[in-house]
Amino acid sequence: MKRWTLDNFDIGRPLGKGKFGNVYLARERQTKFILALKVLFKKQLEKAGVEHQLRREVEIQSHLRHPNILRLYGYFHDASRVYLILEFAPKGELYSELQRCGHFDDQRTATYITELADALHYCHSKKVIHRDIKPENLLLGANGELKIADFGWSVHTPSSRRSTLCGTLDYLPPEMIEGRTHDEKVDLWSLGVLIYEFLAGKPPFESKGHEETYRRISKVEFSYPTRVSPGGRDLIGKLLKHNPLQRLPILDVLSHPWVVEHSIKTPQRCQAQDSRSEDSWR
Ligand code: ATP
Ligand code: MG
Repeated sequence: MKRWTLDNFDIGRPLGKGKFGNVYLARERQTKFILALKVLFKKQLEKAGVEHQLRREVEIQSHLRHPNILRLYGYFHDASRVYLILEFAPKGELYSELQRCGHFDDQRTATYITELADALHYCHSKKVIHRDIKPENLLLGANGELKIADFGWSVHTPSSRRSTLCGTLDYLPPEMIEGRTHDEKVDLWSLGVLIYEFLAGKPPFESKGHEETYRRISKVEFSYPTRVSPGGRDLIGKLLKHNPLQRLPILDVLSHPWVVEHSIKTPQRCQAQDSRSEDSWR
């Protein structure tokens, strides 16, 4: 495996701000390969006590190979920083697209859901759950295809980890906010929340305060704006089930009539290659 240093890269414009540092456009000097370099400050990682979480993110993401999962090619560090070498997603955050459009139509939503469900099916087959599926963590490739990024909260199943739930509760399922054991079915719940948000323009349990959001998630209390189509409602309703065992399995999401009718993509399922047969770079 190649040893990387900062000297291997020309650094370009900043792409975004992360919690522990920034992400930059970069080019590998020898091959001129364009990528994204995520820079994290060791001091800040230590202070927040998330070093092991970062190690897990790197370990998990670097072994996944799927067209709808952002590649993590490698990493290196110096005295003060850790650098993650990432696939560059030229069209940026899906979140900005959603903000720009307000909401998506059935075709666009169903296409994203096909890509997302396909990628999650692949993750789950490797016993990896993402646990942090939300528009901010979905990036867009050159052809507008969805790329799951940010495996910072991902784990191997099953997990009973009670991580401090910081940030928004909006995408978390009852079993996680209630601190119970959970498995890959948490991602099915988040998928339901996301389909709702794509079609409605806002997440289903959004409320003024944390407490109210918590209560509404626990009770699965939500209603549809009129523009959400019957087919979309049917799928969302089958994913937003309090009991994880009752949620529609991921393969049934991919073959749901509304998804099949509106998606302009067919699943890539099983075309992803095995990570061991490839080199560590691209
Ligand atoms: P947070 O946990 O608060 O989401 P983070 O530390 O996980 O932050 P990222 O989400 O990985 O940081 O990156 C921050 C932002 O940088 C992203 O929201 C996105 O806008 C941009 N970005 C990150 N990686 C890439 C990439 N590979 N290609 C293009 N843009 C990227
Ligand atoms: Mg992020």
